[in-house]
Amino acid sequence: MKCPNCGQNIADDCKFCPQCGTALYRTYENYNSDRMNMFFMSHNDKFPDEQMPMIRERLLYLDDNKWSAAYAVQYKDPLIALLISLFAGEFGVDRFYLGQNTLGLIKLFTCGGFGVWAIIDLFLIMKAAREENANKLLQAIEG
Ligand SMILES: [Zn+2]
Repeated sequence: MKCPNCGQNIADDCKFCPQCGTALYRTYENYNSDRMNMFFMSHNDKFPDEQMPMIRERLLYLDDNKWSAAYAVQYKDPLIALLISLFAGEFGVDRFYLGQNTLGLIKLFTCGGFGVWAIIDLFLIMKAAREENANKLLQAIEG
């Protein structure tokens, strides 16, 4: 088994990690599941529902050193994206907020797709924000 704190390989019957002293009465999955719940508490509703099972699975078996990468990502708030879309969508500001600069520029220069795209985005932008967050998270923990 692997120490959840320092990653050291240790015998299965150890009560404490010989390297760092961490108590090992809990399994690695248990330990990670707590961290995962903490993660989703601070990033509530920021990922697409349909990707949640896959993301949970990835986080449950995430290596120790990848957690900081998962936390370092600047996740976008879907609600803020919607508000931006409402007030400045025709200038593409909502897409810029999501880091989708090409889409933002096209939207800006077409005045929000002649108004049509701006209206459609009101319905799409929260989902787009969640998908962007999921992509960034998966990229961060794959690297
Ligand atoms: Zn250890």
